Formats: sequence, C-alpha cells, structure tokens
Amino acid sequence: MQVRQLFDQDTWTYTYILFDEKTKEAAIIDSVKEQFARDKKYITELNLTLKYALETHVHADHVTASGSHREYFNCQIAVHADSGNQCADLKINDGDILKLGNQEILILHTPGHTNGDVSYLIEGAVFTGDALLIRACGRTDFQQGSSAVLYESITNKLFTLADETVMYPGHDYEGFTCSTIGEEKALNPRLANQKPKQEFMEIMDNMNLPKPKRIDIAVPGNLACGKN
Ligand code: FE
Repeated sequence: MQVRQLFDQDTWTYTYILFDEKTKEAAIIDSVKEQFARDKKYITELNLTLKYALETHVHADHVTASGSHREYFNCQIAVHADSGNQCADLKINDGDILKLGNQEILILHTPGHTNGDVSYLIEGAVFTGDALLIRACGRTDFQQGSSAVLYESITNKLFTLADETVMYPGHDYEGFTCSTIGEEKALNPRLANQKPKQEFMEIMDNMNLPKPKRIDIAVPGNLACGKN
C-alpha cells in the first residue's frame, strides 16, 4: 500500500491518501474542506479510483471534504456507527475490513477522544486520528470524550500492535510527521512506562484547555459530511 501524507496549515490537520499500487483503488482519511481542490487534483493526477472517504472521528477543529469527494468521485463515506453522523454510507465498527484491491484496512474502535473514534490499520502502519498523537493524545473533555476510555483504547488496542508499526497521527503541532507504536510506548509522556490509568486520567482531566475555536461550526458541518 502506498501512503501519502498531506497537511492543512490552518488547522494542523494531516490528511492521508492510501492506494493499492496494482488496482489504483484509493481511500482518503480525514479530508479538509478547504483542501478539496488540492486533493481532487492529486487523486486525479495519480489516476486513482477513490473508493472511500474515511473519517477517524467527528472533528471539532475543521470541516471534512468527504461530501465533496463523494459527489465528485462517487466514493463511499465511512464513519464509526456511534459518531452520530447520518450522511455516511458505511457505519463502521471494530473489526470491520475495507479493501483496496487485495489489501485490507482493518477498523479498530479507539474511543475516548470522542465516543466514535476509529483507527485504521494497514500492513505496517496505523492511522490513529486524535486517539494517539506523537508524544501526546487527543483531549477528552468534549464530544462524549472520556480519559478512562481513551486509556483503555490506547493501552489495550493501539499499544498491542507490533512495536515497529508506523503510527500516523491526525494532527501534529510540533512539526513531526509520524512515529511508531514502540516509540510512543517508550516515550509518550502521558503513557510511557505503563503509566497507571489513574495518573493518565489525572493528566487528562486537568488540562483546562480552551474550547476549540471552530467547534460550533465544525461539529454540525462534519455530521453533515461538510454539506450543510
Ligand atoms: Fe479531534
């Protein structure tokens, strides 16, 4: 599987395009509305058949371009069944598999940042959205987030993947592009060295972060696949 990482500088969001080299079937993960023209051109230039527009969760910081991709490429939109999204074609669950050619994308339900977060696992790499970030993780104080639930998602699901699995986050605010599961197990300051759940919850429950600037526009926008 080929992976391309694209960046939206206004919201520090990573969008990923995955494609099977043989069949050119492709998926886009976490597209950004303002970057639709860029991504449409790129997908077209590479002669890809966009099969899926995937979301890791209902974002609070940017609006998706998934509805625009569906209109243009006739792809299917996939989000987790618990996300509250009514416009998706596929309401995915833990253990579901999507295929690009003969290659598989396995769905891992990794809630806690929101109740409907998923990670997408391919051979050798995992796309974690905001469940796990490089040396950090997504906040847990809105959209049915829960620090206790996020701890279980990270330690029982993501940290049980092979150490060498490349981890691609939904955002990065420091300029990093990817990590590995082993690196985060050893070095993520919120979780490293098998930090107990109680300590993780204390960190997460006392962050006192400001409300995201675009949440009131982004959440309803994303529930409508960017087409409200
Ligand atoms: Fe998020």
